[in-house]
Amino acid sequence: MVGAATALGLAQMGFNVLVVEKNVPSVEWTEQQPYQLRVSALTRASENILKNLGAWQGIAKRRYHAFTSMRVWDEVNPGEVIFSAAEMDEPNLGYTVENDVIQAALWEQLQAHDKISLCLNESLADVKLYADYAEVIIGETTWQTPLLIGADGAFSKVRELAGIAVEEHSYQQCAVVGCVKTELSHEDACWQRYTANGPFAYLAMSDNVSSIAWYLPEDKKQWALELDDKAFANELEKASGFRLGQVLEVSQRGAFPLVRRHAKHYVLPHLALVGDAAHTIHPQAGQGVNLGLLDAAALVETLSQARQQGKSWGRQSVLRKYERWRRGDNAIVQRSMEGFDWLFKQDSEIKQQIRKPFLSLANRMTWVKNWLMGQALNGREALPNLAKRD
Ligand SMILES: Cc1cc2nc3c(=O)[nH]c(=O)nc-3n(C[C@H](O)[C@H](O)[C@H](O)COP(=O)(O)OP(=O)(O)OC[C@H]3O[C@@H](n4cnc5c(N)ncnc54)[C@H](O)[C@@H]3O)c2cc1C
Repeated sequence: MVGAATALGLAQMGFNVLVVEKNVPSVEWTEQQPYQLRVSALTRASENILKNLGAWQGIAKRRYHAFTSMRVWDEVNPGEVIFSAAEMDEPNLGYTVENDVIQAALWEQLQAHDKISLCLNESLADVKLYADYAEVIIGETTWQTPLLIGADGAFSKVRELAGIAVEEHSYQQCAVVGCVKTELSHEDACWQRYTANGPFAYLAMSDNVSSIAWYLPEDKKQWALELDDKAFANELEKASGFRLGQVLEVSQRGAFPLVRRHAKHYVLPHLALVGDAAHTIHPQAGQGVNLGLLDAAALVETLSQARQQGKSWGRQSVLRKYERWRRGDNAIVQRSMEGFDWLFKQDSEIKQQIRKPFLSLANRMTWVKNWLMGQALNGREALPNLAKRD
C-alpha cells in the first residue's frame, strides 16, 4: 500500500519510477468476495492522499465502510468514552477498508501510469550505495538509480541490505483478526474494550458484519486459532462483553505477532525507507498504514521540491528533510500507543483507580475528545500537500 502510493505520487510529479514487487496484487473484484483478513481504519489524511492519487474511486467501486463513532471502555469500570463524528462536525471518523481493496485500487492506477515500469514477481537480491547513485540487483539485472525507496514492509530486505539497524520491542501479544456477523448492529461504530488479556475491537464493515481485532498474550495464539467456530464465537462474545450480542458467523482467522520497530535511520545517501520498512506500531489505534501513507506523501513533496530547486534529490542532505519531517511524528504515535497500553493493562489496582474517573471524566470533556480525535483523524504534524483536501 505504502510503496504503491509513493510510486504513484512520484510518477504524478513527473519522476520515472520502477516498482519491484514479488507478490502481484489482484485487481479482480466480485461483490460476493468474502471479507479479507486484513482491514485498515483509514483516517481523513489517508482518504485525502488516496483521493489525490486517484485511487479512491477504485476503493469506492469495491467495498468500504464509513464509521461515525468510536466507543472505548474497559471490563472493570463503569462508563465509556464515546468519540463521535457529529460532535466534531465531521461526516465520519474514517473508513474501514480491506487492505487488498486499497492495494488493488492503487495498483490499477500504477499499471495505467506511463511514468511507471513494473518489475513483477521479482525479489531484490542486493543493494550497494555509492556516492552518486544506488545500485540494485534484481534477478540477473543490475539497475542504477539516484534513489532506492524501501517500502517492503516490516522485514524490509532493503533495510537489511543497506545495514540500517532497527530498535525492536515485542509486546508479547498477538492480534487475532477475521470478520464476524453479530446479532446486534455495530451502529457504524468501532468498539474497543480493554480486558485483562488485552484490547478487543469490533470495526464496522457492513450490515451486522464487523472486522475483529482480538489482542491476546502470545502464548494463547495457538489456542485461539484452533478453537472450533462455535467456541471461537463464544470467546469473542465474552471478550466484547456481549456488546453486539451473539456472534452468529465467523470467517477464516489469522494471527499476527505485535512488535514495535523503528529504523535508526530513514535515509542514507540515495536510499529512503517508508511505511512498515521504517516503523511498525501497536495496531490498537489503527495507525500503521496511515503513518506510512503520510511518509509517502512527505517523501514525494520533499523530492519534488528539491527537484524544482535544481537539487540532486537523491542526496542525503535532501532526504534528511523527509526524515526530520516524519521520524519524530512516528515516534510520538508509537509511544502514545504504549501509554494507552500501560494505562489499560489490568495489572495494578492503582491504574484501575486512575481509569475509573478517567473514563467518565474524559467522556464529558468534549474539547479534549475532539482534539484527540482531530489529531488521529487528520495527522499531527504539518500535513504534506497530498494529505490535504483539494
Ligand atoms: C492486526 C493488525 C491490524 C492492523 N490494523 C491497522 C489499521 O486499522 N490501520 C492502519 O493504518 N494500520 C493497521 N495495521 C498496520 C498496517 O497493516 C501496516 O502498517 C501496513 O500493512 C504497512 O504497509 P506497507 O505497505 O508499509 O508494508 P506491507 O503491507 O508489508 O507491504 C510490503 C510490500 O513489499 C513487498 N515486498 C516485501 N519484500 C520484498 C522483496 N524482497 N522484493 C520485492 N517486494 C517485496 C510485499 O510483497 C508487499 O507488497 C495493522 C497491522 C496489524 C498486524
